[in-house]
Amino acid sequence: MNLKGKIALVTGATSGIGLGIAHRLAAAGAAVVINGFGDVEGVLAELGRHGTRVGHYPADMADAQQIAEMIAYVERTFGGPDILVNNAGIQHVAAVEAFPVERWDAIIAINLSSVFHTSRLVLPGMRQRGWGRILNIASTHGLVASAGKSAYVAAKHGVIGLTKSIALETATTPITCNAICPGWVLTPLVQQQIQARIEAGASPDEARHDLLAEKQPSREFVTPEQLGELAVFLCSEAAAQVRGAAWNMDGGWVAQ
Ligand code: NAD
Repeated sequence: MNLKGKIALVTGATSGIGLGIAHRLAAAGAAVVINGFGDVEGVLAELGRHGTRVGHYPADMADAQQIAEMIAYVERTFGGPDILVNNAGIQHVAAVEAFPVERWDAIIAINLSSVFHTSRLVLPGMRQRGWGRILNIASTHGLVASAGKSAYVAAKHGVIGLTKSIALETATTPITCNAICPGWVLTPLVQQQIQARIEAGASPDEARHDLLAEKQPSREFVTPEQLGELAVFLCSEAAAQVRGAAWNMDGGWVAQ
């Protein structure tokens, strides 16, 4: 229970990776506020089983005003956050010349600008309390590109750059900022891409196999639980000098 007494805010945590991280942080003793859309009641009931205080704030991470209201709520109601996990993200796949402008703007707002807004708003409180952890869920697509994912790749490369800047600005403090770069994780976000392959004629097994085989040498999905354990490590004192890292957990994707 090494995170007892800490308050965590995890954006986009009603499913997938964010939910896995929220569970591991709560299991390690942190109070956890989740953000995101969907079945919040069921998710909060499950999270509450770890025995720590849990909450939800439904800010749209594309909206700077709603983000400010969410941070104010977490400060007012929980006295934090001490741990900020910037996880909310969306995807759209299309060639640059066919990329809908509205999808580009939404991906940059949700996947990149929200990280700037939450970080600028939580840093004063972290400095005041003398401790903090900012974890940005980037992607292997923050390190290398794939065709058809220009907005996502640009946003995730931006997240890694922003991570490094914040790490330098906090380098002499007990606040650290790092990025985690997952490879393929079987979540609703990736299920959409598997579905697109099925609609193009693949069987469900072929779709999953081909998706992995193209990029991920292990041919196995990374799990939200494994990413949650990495997040808990990065929050520990053992990781106090891990600063500005882009830590890939990707079945070998970027080793190629
Ligand atoms: P997911 O679709 O399961 O979860 C996304 C979460 O973000 C959900 O809780 C959803 O409600 C929330 N969300 C979406 N739009 C939002 C908005 N405007 N405001 C607030 N919340 C919003 O996806 P996931 O795969 O768990 O992805 C989580 C993060 O991990 C993303 O940043 C994604 O880019 C990154 N990632 C995923 C993979 C993967 O293979 N799944 C790989 C690398 C990185």
